[in-house]
Amino acid sequence: MALKLYNTLTRQKAEFEPIDPKNVRMYVCGPTVYDYAHIGNARPVIVFDVLFRLLRHIYGPEHVTYVRNITDVDDKINARAARDYPDVPLNEAIRKVTEATEKQFHADIAALGVLLPTYEPRATEYIRRDDGRETMVSLIETLVERGNAYVAEDHVLFDVSSMPDYGRLSNRSLDEMEAGARVEVAPYKKGPMDFVLWKPSKPGEPAWPSPAGIATPGRPGWHIECSAMAGALLGPVFDIHGGGIDLTFPHHENEIAQSRCAHGTSVMANVWMHNGFLQVEGEKMSKSLGNFITINQLLADGWPGEVLRLNMLRTHYRQPIDWTKKGLEESRKILAGWFALDGLDTTDRTSISREVLDALEDDLNTPKAIAELHGLASAKDVKNLGAALGFLGLDGTTLRKANERTAETAQSIASTVIPLITARLEARKRKDFAESDRIRDELAKMGISLKDTKNKETGEIETTWEVTR
Ligand code: AMP
Ligand code: ZN
Repeated sequence: MALKLYNTLTRQKAEFEPIDPKNVRMYVCGPTVYDYAHIGNARPVIVFDVLFRLLRHIYGPEHVTYVRNITDVDDKINARAARDYPDVPLNEAIRKVTEATEKQFHADIAALGVLLPTYEPRATEYIRRDDGRETMVSLIETLVERGNAYVAEDHVLFDVSSMPDYGRLSNRSLDEMEAGARVEVAPYKKGPMDFVLWKPSKPGEPAWPSPAGIATPGRPGWHIECSAMAGALLGPVFDIHGGGIDLTFPHHENEIAQSRCAHGTSVMANVWMHNGFLQVEGEKMSKSLGNFITINQLLADGWPGEVLRLNMLRTHYRQPIDWTKKGLEESRKILAGWFALDGLDTTDRTSISREVLDALEDDLNTPKAIAELHGLASAKDVKNLGAALGFLGLDGTTLRKANERTAETAQSIASTVIPLITARLEARKRKDFAESDRIRDELAKMGISLKDTKNKETGEIETTWEVTR
């Protein structure tokens, strides 16, 4: 069977035909690094990891290029940095927030058995650069030159009326969108659906020299980031673009508008794939609703990463998942059964069994692949599924990599935290409580909480620490 994928753009499942089978190219929108990733955020990461593995299996590992970005410039990041580090200059505070969050994200998803993408660009690296690659600034200038964007009050806005088929991905016409527009329309916009490519920065905010002759330094809008990183690393037209269903509009619609108009192409990516929501009691899990649980918390609660992964893949990626404890218990039982099978050799990676591969090639039908396995349930087939779906412990390479990365992260946290704890204990000994409290607060801001206990034998105070957020 050939690989078939459901395409949001055509609203059909169709056979996947790569532009170049020697270089199959996929872009997936990555996290905005200001806070812990919740288990809903893990869904696209896991789903597109399965697709990455499948593409590597079909076309060969060296013939697949996968880009998943890190958004490290965003107003939510600025707000979080100002809240958490009020006494530090904003740019430095932002660096603290983004670096720590990115590290945490990597540790979390390594525990879920996710392979590293081929490239993981940070948005700030693609605002301006001098190696001739596409950047946000170069894209914006082209859009202004081509008459698809205009400058107004130090902003650059995309003029949606310049694109006849704006709205094709989300299947809505511009007239419909304008009729339904509730967003407060900024006075400098020509049309209510026009969106920001660039905006001015206030003093102290992150800022770069502006494009299109604007004197005030500024920063990019969200959508242009992905257009630039995808263009720079995958070219003007590539094979697959993915993300959660909530990104279809406006984010992906606007990525398409920017990239197609700047490059003069009829598509940005041939196939657009969207995972459904992970829900809690019928509602999307999200930060704004406050009904979220972080990957980190689930791992800390003792759920192994492979249980979280299996639980995610027991539902087809386009269906909503209701995330429940009962589901997790069931996933744990299934995995325990697989691990208990006789004769499992986790280092021997044989080819994926036909039944499992057929299921995966049918628009990533992971629940069917898992059900096939129940029918077969021999050690060899379990191992095959492990290789295909990336279960830790069933795939020796992934496990080793994940362990190494988790150990690295733990080590880097320890190398920052331990000297601070020592300094705090010394401050307490000399009764400099102001200093010892200051260090405790500094650690609290890093998400580290301390516990002091008296050693019964020596009478000395000893401090243990844990990561609490
Ligand atoms: P964000 O940080 O909100 O931009 O989200 C990062 C990625 O996670 C995007 O691809 C979102 O579509 C996806 N995502 C966020 N919440 C959920 C959810 N509850 N279920 C599935 N995917 C989600
Ligand atoms: Zn994106």
